[in-house]
Amino acid sequence: MAHMDDLSIPVSAKYWLRKARVPAAMLSRPIVAASDADGAVLLDLSIAGGQIEAVVPAGASAYDGLPSVDVGGRLVWPGLVDMHTHLDKGHIVDRTTNPDGTFTGARLATIADRGRYWTEQDVRRRMEFGLRCALAHGVAAIRTHIDSYEGQSEISWKVFRELRDAWRDKIVLQAASICPIDLLEGDAGIGLADLVARSGGVLGGVTRAFNEDHSENVTSLDTLLDRLFHLAAERSLDIDLHVDETGDPRAASLIHVADAAIRNKFKGKVVCGHCCSLAVQPDELVRETLRRCADAGIAIVSLPIVNMYLQDRMDARTPRWRGVTLIREMRAAGLEVAIGGDNCRDPFHAYGDHDMVDTFRQAIRIAHLDHPFGDVTRLIGPAPAAIIGAAPFGMITAGGPARLILFSARNLNELMSRPQSDRIVIKDGKRLDAELPDYAELGEELSLAAE
Ligand SMILES: [Zn+2]
Repeated sequence: MAHMDDLSIPVSAKYWLRKARVPAAMLSRPIVAASDADGAVLLDLSIAGGQIEAVVPAGASAYDGLPSVDVGGRLVWPGLVDMHTHLDKGHIVDRTTNPDGTFTGARLATIADRGRYWTEQDVRRRMEFGLRCALAHGVAAIRTHIDSYEGQSEISWKVFRELRDAWRDKIVLQAASICPIDLLEGDAGIGLADLVARSGGVLGGVTRAFNEDHSENVTSLDTLLDRLFHLAAERSLDIDLHVDETGDPRAASLIHVADAAIRNKFKGKVVCGHCCSLAVQPDELVRETLRRCADAGIAIVSLPIVNMYLQDRMDARTPRWRGVTLIREMRAAGLEVAIGGDNCRDPFHAYGDHDMVDTFRQAIRIAHLDHPFGDVTRLIGPAPAAIIGAAPFGMITAGGPARLILFSARNLNELMSRPQSDRIVIKDGKRLDAELPDYAELGEELSLAAE
């Protein structure tokens, strides 16, 4: 079998990618072919004009004399979907650290950094840096949250609109607003909802009060949720919330969000991120919450890496729980669940590189999504694509884009065991020539100052 370095992706407009091992969960429709222990099938993909023209079992086609490359049964994935990130906060870790690594520390450090540095130029440079990382790693679509506070919103949303247009051919970029839910009251809420609608965005928010952490439900939660759903419905916006990001079981907003969606007969899509506290609530409440979320059609995005980083962090104490929500139980209850990357090199999470393959590998370990792997690859491709409407990205489908990741790994164990930094990203049918940006590009003020 050819070494990765020796594999050459044909440069012609039409060719065959042969013996590609594709997880069945990443196919848009089932294909009858012999599958391995992870449920992956060996396929030949016909590539034409930047699209996937046909998807057939390996060896089923005569190849029509076209150029072809035999990838030797290596894994081939679609370009991935990171449906929950914060590009506007990214890469500030060198200039504004989280003093203690807690959620409170993160919140306060971010407020300080935002007030001091977030000019148009600063936000653009860091967002673009994040996009370039994601592109090189094989991410095809991103939904970023945008800190939407008075004085900041106009700046950041302008940068988002410009980058969405400039990056149109490289990454599908969406944005959702984020601010404490009580800031949606009054004229400020109307102004923000109008800005989001003008920008083609999604109305978001976080189920905690301004200047507070997640704890017991915010006062007048139902009234505030009605307000949010009303603002969204009036403008035909979807909703994307940060919910109960805490290990405090009193934080039980999720069931209220489900009820609000039903009460308001909401027609748009609703997704809730985090939902950490669900994992520490009584079984009875969990069952009822999941039942009502299923009734309301609420989708969930879990952010395992950031949850494990922030949750249960206390001074001089080793964490006792992993911080993640009930991914398996939610899926069993019929909810669509996805995994996202969330924060990258900012006070909420000091590390990361916008790499959904790394997110996948860590999430498997954190949430025990293995033995068997089953259809877990759905959580970073088809599921987030369906939730944010990014299909046909995030899946392999005849007639869809030839946006692929070719790994040296032949199965998920090999993929889990090495970082896959030798992966080949294919975009529009061609090998992508994109390098990770150098940290030095973030500028002088982000250099390695002593703490
Ligand atoms: Zn987030």
